[in-house]
Amino acid sequence: ALGTAWAVDWTRRAAALVEEHKQELTHLDRDIGDGDHGENLDRGFRAVVAKLDASAADATPGDVLKLVATTLISTVGGAAGPLYGTAFLKGSTAIKGLDELDGAAIVAFLTAARDGIVLRGKAEPGDKTMIDAWTPAVDAAAAAGDDPVAALRAAADAAAAGAVATEPLVARKGRASYLGERSAGHRDPGAQSTAYILEAAAAAAE
Ligand code: ADP
Ligand code: MG
Ligand code: MG
Repeated sequence: ALGTAWAVDWTRRAAALVEEHKQELTHLDRDIGDGDHGENLDRGFRAVVAKLDASAADATPGDVLKLVATTLISTVGGAAGPLYGTAFLKGSTAIKGLDELDGAAIVAFLTAARDGIVLRGKAEPGDKTMIDAWTPAVDAAAAAGDDPVAALRAAADAAAAGAVATEPLVARKGRASYLGERSAGHRDPGAQSTAYILEAAAAAAE
């Protein structure tokens, strides 16, 4: 099962991947948005990492991921800040009090996170948003069985494929929707950042 060390490692790896791909995320957002997605997320995850060292020694995985939520909400801004913040907040609530996470707990986290984004942003699958990475990730994790490591690997791979699959879509939510048909032919930046964040979760578990 996956414990607090995993949650901390996930957070650090997510911060590292976001930093590594900051320019790419910003360029994707320049094509169909306002060109700040990489900067926004990098600022947020840097702030999270800075707070990790000060977190309590007896923290549960849910405590760590709640810290991610509150820090992202207060530092990222834009559309993605409240959306990722809600995702980590609802996800952490779903695993509240657990010291170790099995496959079912991972699925509960991912499902609650995705549902939180939908509640907040009202996007449906196919609207060319981060939901198009989160939803296949939830489905793949649920189909992966009881092993939390396998569930996270399935989720990460499905999110990456989901991000690629946003390319032909016409955006119906967020700034990209202002472009209408011209949003087609570009990958959604939030779906791509979701793929990196979930890749970090899987890599931390492996
Ligand atoms: P902003 O558009 O405010 O500059 P960001 O650039 O940080 O915010 O994030 C843009 C990303 O947020 C999009 O690529 C998309 O994935 C996601 N997004 C925007 N609106 C929604 C929504 N209503 N529901 C889900 N995701 C959304
Ligand atoms: Mg933007
Ligand atoms: Mg912006």
